[in-house]
Amino acid sequence: MTQETGGFAAFNLNPNILAAVIATGYEEPSAIQHQSIPIIMAGHDMIGQAQTGTGKTAAFALPILHRIDPAKREPQALILAPTRELALQVATAFETYAKQMPGVTVVAVYGGAPMGPQLKAIRNGAQIVVATPGRLCDHLRRDEKVLSTVNHLVLDEADEMLKLGFMDDLEVIFKALPPTRQTVLFSATLPQSIRAIAERHLRDPQHVKIQTKTQTVTAIEQAHLLVHADQKTSAVLSLLEVEDFDALIMFVRTKQATLDLASALEAKGYKAAALNGDIAQNQRERVIESLKDGRLDIVVATDVAARGLDVPRITHVFNVDMPYDPESYVHRIGRTGRAGREGRALLLVTPRERRMLQVIERVTGQKVAEVRLPDAQAVLDARIKKLTNSLSPLVADAESTHGDLLDRLTADIGCTPRALAAALLRKATNAQALTLAAIEKERPLVPNNAPRGDRPERTGDRPDRGDRERRAPVPLAEGRARCRTALGARDGIAAKNLLGAILNEGGLAREAIGRIQVRDSFSLVELPEDGLERLLTKLKDTRVAGKQLKLRRYRED
Ligand code: ADP
Ligand code: MG
Repeated sequence: MTQETGGFAAFNLNPNILAAVIATGYEEPSAIQHQSIPIIMAGHDMIGQAQTGTGKTAAFALPILHRIDPAKREPQALILAPTRELALQVATAFETYAKQMPGVTVVAVYGGAPMGPQLKAIRNGAQIVVATPGRLCDHLRRDEKVLSTVNHLVLDEADEMLKLGFMDDLEVIFKALPPTRQTVLFSATLPQSIRAIAERHLRDPQHVKIQTKTQTVTAIEQAHLLVHADQKTSAVLSLLEVEDFDALIMFVRTKQATLDLASALEAKGYKAAALNGDIAQNQRERVIESLKDGRLDIVVATDVAARGLDVPRITHVFNVDMPYDPESYVHRIGRTGRAGREGRALLLVTPRERRMLQVIERVTGQKVAEVRLPDAQAVLDARIKKLTNSLSPLVADAESTHGDLLDRLTADIGCTPRALAAALLRKATNAQALTLAAIEKERPLVPNNAPRGDRPERTGDRPDRGDRERRAPVPLAEGRARCRTALGARDGIAAKNLLGAILNEGGLAREAIGRIQVRDSFSLVELPEDGLERLLTKLKDTRVAGKQLKLRRYRED
């Protein structure tokens, strides 16, 4: 038994279940699991009140698996869930926890799929049936005895089921089950309608209530930003400019991404570190300590590595990669807003992930507002604000300590105090861009993974001819062709306009488009050689900023 699962070991679950929980990587039972598992294992009826993401599935699945008899090939437990998605999630969770219990099978029963195979799976001896109420009633109409062997019933998300109008179906299902069964009801809220059900259908239920999650989620301001996958790093860097954070955790999906993003942040001068499953325990603890005491401000983590991380200084969570499910989203953003403080959670969403955003909004019952990348003005304002904040406390006594020196230096150099102060500012800010024009210039037009020092061209005023002569042409990636349009910066074109037009009208994946260079009087775009002629035909009538794009293959020589 590993020490991390000591918490789960204490329940005395069937060892095969415990082994599966260990394999899943759970370390400690969540609060609802801690309280519910013993009650359900003991066979009591129970009412559990807890928010999304608190781990309710395992809270009932583990003790129910413990109580069923794998040797009996008949339905023994019925779990009702409001939607097909949730039913599938619960069924998958059961399968995970039952992985090491030979002979245990789970069937999911929901609408929109043929009934025959579902009924067959039940009759073939699935012990666990996870169902939406509507579809289950359809089955009952065909075979009213199908549930007669069930002796454990779980109503998961009972309030949602009532909201979806399943009240009558529930009554039909209750009637079809043996009255001696154990009944467990989970719900985020306990309105009168739920209490009435409990009153009628539960026997002497024990109550378990977990409140913390609600508070956590409501104290967090959530927003999302639409980006293309390869623009995430630059989006993160822009956001950091304007977000007023204390400590921040960023979530990504892979170990490599923790390393890449952490080093990109370090390169920009942030105190950042990666946290992933490969990092040794003592190093991991050092990282967390550093985040706590301010030696680090940003940790880039995978879900696994961040598990249990609790640092009150964290004001922001950036979901740089989409979480796999809404529950882990709730877990992630719960890293901020600790101890009743306000927190802010930002989610980067690529076009293909918009559906997941909707699922998150539905499951958490909260709208995740859209934000846009800060524009140059916002970045400038934020930089000046930071500078003001860092300088203003120094002004008070600086004149008494360094005033005379200033007089002497201006005399020695023969410059005005304004000139000297300006020079000192430039030095103190490491020549950071602090005018609108300078910031606009420094922002990459196509923030893709252009190698360092080889930024995409800026909207400059340099004559394009001379520019081309001075530079060796950038080698093309294999399979790409360079195309040219006569539209350029002077036509009000930015790289993102070109990108948008080509993506929309050309029907290409973002990855298919390479570098985009906007010059004053023309622009160059790298497109896939394969199918180029067809693509150019497709784009024949495309307009950008009101003008015809007229994209043509471009030859250097
Ligand atoms: P709820 O039903 O309360 O919304 P879930 O049961 O779906 O929550 O669990 C949310 C997430 O937390 C899931 O991804 C699940 O695998 C994970 N989880 C549950 N219990 C634990 C635990 N003890 N340790 C770590 N992760 C857990
Ligand atoms: Mg659930």
